[in-house]
Amino acid sequence: MPDETVPFLDALLSRMKSAASPLRDTVTELWEKYRHLDDGNVASYIPELAKADPKWFGISIVSVNGQSVDAGDFEQEFTIQSVSKPFVFGMGLEEFGRDHVLSKIGVQPIGEAFNSITLDEASNRPFNPMINAGAIAAADLIAGKDFPARVTHLIDTFGRYCGRPVHVNSSVYASERATGHRNRAIGHLMLNFGMVGERIEETLDLYFQQCSIMVNSHDLAVMGATLAHGGVNPLTGVRAIKASYVKDLLSVMHTCGMYDYAGEWAYRVGIPAKSGVGGGVVAVVPGQVGIGLFSPKLDAKGNSVRAMKVCQDLSEKFGLHIFECGSAERSIVSQLSPVRSG
Ligand code: GLN
Repeated sequence: MPDETVPFLDALLSRMKSAASPLRDTVTELWEKYRHLDDGNVASYIPELAKADPKWFGISIVSVNGQSVDAGDFEQEFTIQSVSKPFVFGMGLEEFGRDHVLSKIGVQPIGEAFNSITLDEASNRPFNPMINAGAIAAADLIAGKDFPARVTHLIDTFGRYCGRPVHVNSSVYASERATGHRNRAIGHLMLNFGMVGERIEETLDLYFQQCSIMVNSHDLAVMGATLAHGGVNPLTGVRAIKASYVKDLLSVMHTCGMYDYAGEWAYRVGIPAKSGVGGGVVAVVPGQVGIGLFSPKLDAKGNSVRAMKVCQDLSEKFGLHIFECGSAERSIVSQLSPVRSG
């Protein structure tokens, strides 16, 4: 981001923070409504995630014109986990194009858990890039001459989506790596079928790194807004992905993004979204806003309980379901305070 844009953005954002807007009131109300909802469990497959405070709850919305509203623990960082998956799929598309990527990874939803050890019997491909198998195959496509170059490519891409430098939580990474036997089994199964390259151990490390990137709910909203804005980060003006591939990401998020709840989610909420076991969810209203949510307690399928409630309420209140024959005055963007010039 060019330095001279920073003061302007700071000024714009602080003005937005102080400006009253109906959407800010709605977000605050939703935060109040669900902050005592105590259902679900914090992920505990590694000790680092089990340390999360179940009370943490952040809600953020960023619009395609760079306005934002945030509530609660929106600055609290957590590991992105599976929310990273669509964005890494996008990296593969940009590097190798749609035909090659689809020869390695399908786009078919399956009603199985995200870590299932299953490949499509006919093609040997993982079913889709939102389950671990497909995500590991996507990580295999992260380009770079060696491991450090591939990590840099990964981190720089996420930095462009977030509009700020991001980093990997090294203790989460170490635990993911030490305990990731199931992911290693999936990787080697795909190696057996020639679906990933020989450097599978390095690719698995890259996958563990991508899961361990630290973000907060505001970052997730900016990432979502970048997709909503055709691939250009609305805060920095920097392109994170080619416009022509944004629909690829949103399609797989819509059909496969919420684990084995994805069909129900598409039916009830109707907004492309992706969740992660760290408690994060990113949701995208194309052309309007990105929504970032964080609350660590998960339901049995691995989706953040409070985040799902907030998305469902926002979808109903503003008619955000993509198949809603909505009217312009119900647009969520009209709920923000007007953009002032000068
Ligand atoms: N690190 C986790 C895994 O690979 C991430 C999964 C997730 O968020 N669903 O199992």
